[in-house]
Amino acid sequence: MTDPSPSGPEFDPSKVTVIFVLGGPGAGKGTQCESLVNDYGFVHLSAGDLLRAEQQRKGSQYGALIADYIKEGKIVPMEVTIALLQNAMRETLNAQQGGEGGQVVAEEHRAKWSDGKGRFLIDGFPRKMDQALKFDETVCPSRFVLFLHCTEEVMLQRLLKRGETSGRTDDNVESIKKRFQTFVETSMPVVDHYRKQDRVVEVDSVASKEQVYSEIRKAVDLTFEKLGEQ
Ligand code: UDP
Ligand code: MG
Repeated sequence: MTDPSPSGPEFDPSKVTVIFVLGGPGAGKGTQCESLVNDYGFVHLSAGDLLRAEQQRKGSQYGALIADYIKEGKIVPMEVTIALLQNAMRETLNAQQGGEGGQVVAEEHRAKWSDGKGRFLIDGFPRKMDQALKFDETVCPSRFVLFLHCTEEVMLQRLLKRGETSGRTDDNVESIKKRFQTFVETSMPVVDHYRKQDRVVEVDSVASKEQVYSEIRKAVDLTFEKLGEQ
């Protein structure tokens, strides 16, 4: 893993669009990101998925640490998560130019990825203030935050249902309670920080996947229009 650069963000925010997707555990971040990928040509990077992959990577020095943090619903030290995201972004951008690793975007969206341009949905990150400040400073400031608002009751039901098949060590009542607590105490201050900067686009995510997605599209289109993006 490489260290974050000491001076300024690695990626130029005028070329690389980063949108943070936040919301409680089970709010529907991953599900909604999949639809956004198809319609807008984003590449979806889930911080949780990257951490789980690193945990399973043979020879990783962080495997045991990540496993423990995830089960306890705690936030893994930011250096690990930021390095994983930064590497994935770099690989993805290089991949469009024929480099190794990283996902190549679908043909219809290639134009949005020409000349070093790119657009990322970063899902489930930042969930703690230190991560937010460090990422903005050293990797790439985000364009805006898409915040999915859901009740704990609904999130609990979704996570328990997912737990029947997900195989995730944190989709059980005990871990879910801890994740809710971390969300309220540690992650909501991040949302509030961006709210103060008027950079949060909020969508209620209690309804069905399709209904929520249609609201998200409207909100994203409106925000892109305001920001002059296509
Ligand atoms: N996690 C973390 N830092 C992050 C994102 C995730 O430490 O920036 C850990 C944390 O323990 C969290 C777990 O990964 O509870 C699962 O995150 P994921 O986003 O997969 O869960 P979701 O919110 O989508 O249910
Ligand atoms: Mg997720």
